[in-house]
Amino acid sequence: MPDVCGRTFDETFLSGYLDRALVQGDEQRVRVHLEGCVSCRALLDELTSMRDATMSSTFELPRDEEWSETPRTGTSRLLRGLGWRLLTAWIVVVVGFGLWETWQDADNLFERVLLVGGVSGVSLILVSVFLDRRNAMKTDRYREVRR
Ligand SMILES: [Zn+2]
Repeated sequence: MPDVCGRTFDETFLSGYLDRALVQGDEQRVRVHLEGCVSCRALLDELTSMRDATMSSTFELPRDEEWSETPRTGTSRLLRGLGWRLLTAWIVVVVGFGLWETWQDADNLFERVLLVGGVSGVSLILVSVFLDRRNAMKTDRYREVRR
């Protein structure tokens, strides 16, 4: 019913009112009119929901899978799991072999103790890093299930 409305301002004033961008006098004019005009209130509602839609699509955060380094497909997850297993096996073999070799070459007990201490320290650190990483992978999986 545009004829009954009789508003004295442009539609842009409504969006200005929405943004609280009007000067005090204009804002009052719009508010007074809105109190008595159903069609303009409806229009304002429409503007509000349009604004909300724009805002939410503008400020929407990227979805998790777009920026997480979680493997995206079953295959890549499988490959990564395999990669970690291979890496662990490789570390165990290399460290074990190196330890054995050096143990054979070491001349005295002091060198052997030094060697075993150092290598076990490094191994423990590597193992702990590996365990952390595995826990992180488990957490990723849970997050995906929840989604
Ligand atoms: Zn009106």
